[in-house]
Amino acid sequence: MRETHLENDKWWVSPYNFESTVRDGLNLPEKVEIHDATLRDGEQTPGVVFSVDDKIEIATKLNELGVDRIEAGMPAVSLDDQKAITEISKLGLNSKIFTFARAMKKDIDLALECGADGVVIEVPIGYPKLVTQFGWTWRDVAEKTAPIINYARENGLHALFFPYDTTRARKEDLTNLCGYIMDNAPPDSIGIVDTMGCATPEAIKHMVRWVNDMTGLPIEIHTHNDFGMGVATELAAVTAGAVCVHSCANGLGERTGNAALEELMMGLHLLYGYDTNYRLDKIPELAEMIAAKSNIPIARNKPVLGHGNFIRESGIGINYVMNDPLVMFATHPSLTGKIGEVVLGKKSGKASIIYKMGELGLGELDDEKIAKILDEVKATGIAKRDVLSNEEFVNIVSSVQAG
Ligand SMILES: [Zn+2]
Repeated sequence: MRETHLENDKWWVSPYNFESTVRDGLNLPEKVEIHDATLRDGEQTPGVVFSVDDKIEIATKLNELGVDRIEAGMPAVSLDDQKAITEISKLGLNSKIFTFARAMKKDIDLALECGADGVVIEVPIGYPKLVTQFGWTWRDVAEKTAPIINYARENGLHALFFPYDTTRARKEDLTNLCGYIMDNAPPDSIGIVDTMGCATPEAIKHMVRWVNDMTGLPIEIHTHNDFGMGVATELAAVTAGAVCVHSCANGLGERTGNAALEELMMGLHLLYGYDTNYRLDKIPELAEMIAAKSNIPIARNKPVLGHGNFIRESGIGINYVMNDPLVMFATHPSLTGKIGEVVLGKKSGKASIIYKMGELGLGELDDEKIAKILDEVKATGIAKRDVLSNEEFVNIVSSVQAG
């Protein structure tokens, strides 16, 4: 574990992250695993369909990035899903392969047939779902699940008990369910699932400690992003001792998506100081692959991935964008395979013009001409309500030079 906020030429995050008054209050586990569910929860994004080949390619890339586990799909969905999971299992990746399963023996059999290492055994426990959608009690859930957990474990699978919509479960239901499961079918780990993305980081921390107290099990955290806190709640869970975070690349997933893989990797490595083997430089390759195969483009201001993350229009500080980027950004653009960029528009200053002329090899001009170019650049940016292309800038420079 690193206890520093600064890595030369790579990143410079807040030193307060590492102050003892902050760190002493945390219960960080020694190691945190990433369980990536892009191929299952990510594919649940409306309109997203991955082919068998897509899934093999994505799994291979996830493995390259250093993801510990890949949830490769739900074999019960289709023969294609079974085929994809089987093929991925055969690749012999470092990542362990998990499948998604209902509390049914046949889903466990399918996981075994596909060669999986583990299963995510999903059952509802959120009260709105139990009472309205299923008409079940906690006992129905417990009795359906216990034999399936035992069956999975007897057959050598890692059984992750996944009582979803956990964050909307009634206290008594979750307490009773955990008690019954521990008495009758202790799994290998248990998930706290914020299916609707509606719990605060504080509530999640409380739940991690509470469920761990009740079960003694390793806690996994799976959240969605409905309040924009998918990653924040997962990292909060880690600070309360959760040992496995669930993710989707590019934050894919239903509605507002799941906790984003790339943000979790950056957060664990940079903000919390975990010594990981993540290949952060490969993040763009995965992101572009996912954007192309999902048909969901990456937003310009998307954390870690966005095209605009290292672009500077304002004239102030532009020299640092290229020469000393940690003055302007918390991470060096190259850490995640990007480059800094200076663009010209309404917010440019004289320094921007001089910088851009140098970059494009347009020589030097006197102060008066620079001022003229700047006026033109600003006027153009305002008129088009955008930044200028290099071509537009070159034309302005030529006309001022000629004039
Ligand atoms: Zn989910």
